Amino acid sequence: MAQLSLRGVRKNFKNTEVLRGIDLEIHDRELVVFVGPSGCGKSTLLRLIAGLDTITEGEFILNGKSMLNVPPSKRDIAMVFQSYALYPHMNVYDNMAFGAKLMGLSKDEVQKRIAETAETLQLQALLERKPRELSGGQRQRVAIGRALVRKPAVFLLDEPLSNLDAALRSEVRLEIAKLHNNIGGTMIYVTHDQVEAMTLADRIVVLRDGVIEQVGTPRELYETPANAFVGTFIGSPR
Ligand code: ADP
Ligand code: MG
Repeated sequence: MAQLSLRGVRKNFKNTEVLRGIDLEIHDRELVVFVGPSGCGKSTLLRLIAGLDTITEGEFILNGKSMLNVPPSKRDIAMVFQSYALYPHMNVYDNMAFGAKLMGLSKDEVQKRIAETAETLQLQALLERKPRELSGGQRQRVAIGRALVRKPAVFLLDEPLSNLDAALRSEVRLEIAKLHNNIGGTMIYVTHDQVEAMTLADRIVVLRDGVIEQVGTPRELYETPANAFVGTFIGSPR
């Protein structure tokens, strides 16, 4: 059984149809990448899954349960945003503790989880620092850590590398791949970058103008693109 099922999902903003019938099943522990040009609806789809926005039409099931009337805090999902705003007045520890405290975890449990997460992301030496005392890559690791501390079943990342320079981008990309192996959860990763998609994904979902053009492994998409759009976008020889 799929862990997440999207069925006929549509999203309108006023008169504009941004998602036009999304059907997708995602399995436990998969790393699925949503890829497609800017404006095709990737962030919108992620926000619907997180519950930050409402689905206009269709169904979304998580672990056998409809999520349509479930608020974000009650979904076993955490999201790292495209612009990962850390709280500037809080140090790294408090930034990471914030979401976990909202879940109602005890102080001891929060402390334990932060210690684990800091080790995974190599943040141990930075816990006392304020965001302004961190590099871009370190800030991004804190933003990821803040979501990880909640130990979500599903981990959503919206273009997590877009604010980093090229050198850091490949470093953090490798960390994300490792992270997916270590945390043992499902990961949905959004990017407009084909290379990121091809190197990270178990399966890639190619979006264009609010519809799914193709779903498959990187190899399937490369070798047998469903149409010229997918072929060109993925960079297939044909
Ligand atoms: P992507 O993440 O793939 O770049 P988005 O999901 O952010 O694309 O946006 C898809 C489309 O929906 C765009 O045309 C965007 O302008 C529109 N859109 C996104 N959010 C809103 C909103 N809150 N109100 C109106 N239009 C929106
Ligand atoms: Mg986006």
